[in-house]
Amino acid sequence: MPSTTTHCPYCSLQCGISLEVRNGEVSLSPADFPTNRGGLCVKGWTAAELLDHPDRLLAPLVRTVPGDRRSPFRAAGWDEALDRTVEAITASQERYGRDSVGCFGGGGLTNEKAYLLGKFARVALRTASIDYNGRFCMSSAATAANRAFGVDRGLPFPLADVARTQVLLLAGSNLADTMPPAMQYLNERGGGLIVVDPRTSATAKAATVHLRPVPGTDLVLANGLLHLVLRAGHADLAYIAARTTGFDEVRAGLTAYWPDRVERVTGVPVEDLERVAEMLGTAASAMILTARGAEQHSQGSDTAQAFVNLALALGLPGRPGSGYGSITGQGNGQGGREHGQKADQLPGYRRIDDPAARAHVAAVWGVAPEELPGPGLSAQEMLSGMGRDGGVRALLVFASNVVVSAPDRDRVLDRLRALDFLAVSDMFLSETAMEADVVFPTAQWAEEEGTMTNLEGRVVRRRPARVPPGQARDDLQLITALARRLGRGAYFSADAREVFQELRRASSGGAADYGGITYERIEAEQGVFWPCPEGETGVARMFTDRFPTADGRARFVRVEHRDATERLDAEFPYVLTTGRLMRQYQSGTQTRRIAALTQGDAVPSAEMHPDLARRHGIGAGDAVELRTRRGRALFAAELADGIRPDTVFVPFHWGGESGANALTDPSLDPLSRMPAFKACAVAVRKVEDP
Ligand code: SF4
Repeated sequence: MPSTTTHCPYCSLQCGISLEVRNGEVSLSPADFPTNRGGLCVKGWTAAELLDHPDRLLAPLVRTVPGDRRSPFRAAGWDEALDRTVEAITASQERYGRDSVGCFGGGGLTNEKAYLLGKFARVALRTASIDYNGRFCMSSAATAANRAFGVDRGLPFPLADVARTQVLLLAGSNLADTMPPAMQYLNERGGGLIVVDPRTSATAKAATVHLRPVPGTDLVLANGLLHLVLRAGHADLAYIAARTTGFDEVRAGLTAYWPDRVERVTGVPVEDLERVAEMLGTAASAMILTARGAEQHSQGSDTAQAFVNLALALGLPGRPGSGYGSITGQGNGQGGREHGQKADQLPGYRRIDDPAARAHVAAVWGVAPEELPGPGLSAQEMLSGMGRDGGVRALLVFASNVVVSAPDRDRVLDRLRALDFLAVSDMFLSETAMEADVVFPTAQWAEEEGTMTNLEGRVVRRRPARVPPGQARDDLQLITALARRLGRGAYFSADAREVFQELRRASSGGAADYGGITYERIEAEQGVFWPCPEGETGVARMFTDRFPTADGRARFVRVEHRDATERLDAEFPYVLTTGRLMRQYQSGTQTRRIAALTQGDAVPSAEMHPDLARRHGIGAGDAVELRTRRGRALFAAELADGIRPDTVFVPFHWGGESGANALTDPSLDPLSRMPAFKACAVAVRKVEDP
């Protein structure tokens, strides 16, 4: 039986998977790919169950009464669904202007789809209104990396470097649960592991030192560690002089981060800070990795920058087995932010307000540069303006479930319902699709051709093992069909190879240069790292000689703590933080449908310290209501000694009455426009009669 080698549909590790199709049944086994080396987590093992799941959408859905989203859905043909969508687009743009039609993409889309969606918005719709769910994921780390290094590749070194590092600091990552096969790289190391997390996660249990700062104070922690590193004489002054700029200004600002103050703000004891500074400062090699726990804050960009500053002072970036990186979450979270589905961006990680970038991309697309719209609003700003004057009136959503994944859920739902028209492309009837006028059934991971770019910047092939069932179609076909009906079909191809060829040309010369990457090279080399200009080899480890900045040096940037976390008071006395579970993925649209993944999680848990629970008469398993200044949600209490006594942790994979994002704070980071998912004020109450 011939097998097809492809990659897991879920996270950015993009574990290799072998698929066999026998009598229509798909079976799955791990493949020996460089990232997973034969390992898979439980999500990957069960991914084949998605393909023929009884909830799978097999035909387009339209409302029985056009324009009335309270009327039930009925199955329709593609022509009818496309016609309704194009009529709504045309009516909206005629009445309210081009930007009144918006596109919302996702970090799960292949590179080809992300690219084509960005082009569709600019060339077919000619709208500035496009952004994607990666704004809720990687945008703060991306902002910091671009600012410091001149480029944003989550890990600017191969994953194998993690196994070579002597001391590893993980800030806001629970790798053991979110990416279990990656733990083999941590476990191969003999050195110290420092975990920064307000709770004792599965990863924190393996730590040499576990720091538990108050959520929202990681910037203070990182600046405090840098203060101690400098005080102990551990800074790499030769590296700083030769390879960086801006150090003196950062050093001058660190006087405010003396250890006692850092302890007072973060809650981390001075002796732990000193121990960690000593571990980092005396290690032969060291690595600092951040993830969403440190980044999803209204000062997430500056927080990531504070960790970058620490790494630069230690002379880590560019050295084998050392460096700074951010662990990407979504499957194509890296590629998803490179090819133009961001509001401010064109393919190749180019800025949309850069005249040279516009000229290059317009030439590839065969349009005049002045035809391309300018930058649009970020994801949360676009969502909160929907249905209002000047806002989006018709929205097309691809690979996103914003009703579960966006903050301040009830307001987002209210705005979605204010739209004149909503179309969603998904494989299941997600909470967002339930709100739509038209739902398009999309092909899945094992049914499509394309590429993904993993957390290391390695471009990998997604290969089809079977054709999509029923009327399910690849999003490339959906986008192309819409463009054709809008009179712009000549600019679009639905063939993944052709799209990738065009993407290569559009990205050439940009920061994320795919010019030399071909499907054949991906096959031959087990993935190709970008940057890879035409005729060159891909760069696995970046920054070895220079940084891609104007002067070749990395930039220190002075960052100061703002008390950005929502105010705690007598009514809302605790800090709520959100995160991920091993058996669930993102908004749960897929994983909540797999029985093996939902066992025991029917009502998600709110993790809290026994002292906090006792104060409210709460026992393990009791129903609890969490309430913030935005909404309420119900959970089962889980008592854990390892969480800070002032903090409550909830997973965000559910919607409905256990939707964590009914609670979260939509305040935005001023640079990345990342919402403050990881810290807000919350009240806790036992529900006597659930
Ligand atoms: Fe690998 Fe991530 Fe898939 Fe798990 S979810 S199998 S870690 S790619």
